[in-house]
Amino acid sequence: MDGHVKKQWDLLVELADGRATKETRDHLVSCERCRVAYDQILIMKEASSYPFEQPPQSLVESAIAIAQPNRSRLKLVSPRLSALGARTERVPAQVLFGQGDLQVRAMYSPTTTGWDVFLSLNGRQGTIFHAGERFETDDRGRVLVPISDIAVSELVLETNGAEFLIPSPIEVEVDGV
Ligand SMILES: [Zn+2]
Repeated sequence: MDGHVKKQWDLLVELADGRATKETRDHLVSCERCRVAYDQILIMKEASSYPFEQPPQSLVESAIAIAQPNRSRLKLVSPRLSALGARTERVPAQVLFGQGDLQVRAMYSPTTTGWDVFLSLNGRQGTIFHAGERFETDDRGRVLVPISDIAVSELVLETNGAEFLIPSPIEVEVDGV
């Protein structure tokens, strides 16, 4: 902050609080440096008015991830099914993952806004958690999860009381990602 703005700071804060003199208001009209500082004061003022019960969503998600460490990563059961001829234009990659008697077939399809991940749990029931939403399997153990933000691509499968991480489109290196 330059010396001029520093001298004006208290007056600018008063202006933000609605206690300004005409002199301060007139000065703001003619002084670019103080206008920049005044905008910053308004931003800080707004930020400080947020109640603590509303922390940023990303912070909440990180905290949930830290609080739930008991997630296993599904092992790759077979290499890309694309190599076995299952690849189509609409589904550029299919992969089989599993652990114990759990087997998950995942199909990754690009959409205009992101990815659709279609999961089939071999008839088992489960719930997928993604970006704060939950997706239940149908009665044949299938579920479609749309991923609109590739940066928020974590997929967690809960089945039989255990949690598993489903590889995201980024992790399976689907062509075109
Ligand atoms: Zn000024």
